[in-house]
Amino acid sequence: TYVVTDNCIMCKYTDCVEVCPVDCFYEGENTLVIHPDECIDCGVCEPECPADAIRPDTEPDMEPWVEFNRKYSEQW
Ligand code: SF4
Repeated sequence: TYVVTDNCIMCKYTDCVEVCPVDCFYEGENTLVIHPDECIDCGVCEPECPADAIRPDTEPDMEPWVEFNRKYSEQW
């Protein structure tokens, strides 16, 4: 899955939301989040993010961000 990280805080761009083929972006408290079970790992959102906030969970130490994204995407 891809996850939204702290560079997204207060970012007002929604380019990522517009390109996601499965609409798995949700509104968090002060970031967008990606539902980790709905993301199909296509990667198209990553280069669209002007804040470089979207990272693949295959990078080191991403587990807290996966949980963060899960928590705020499941409140809807
Ligand atoms: Fe959506 Fe693809 Fe980004 Fe996952 S990687 S959030 S499916 S655009």
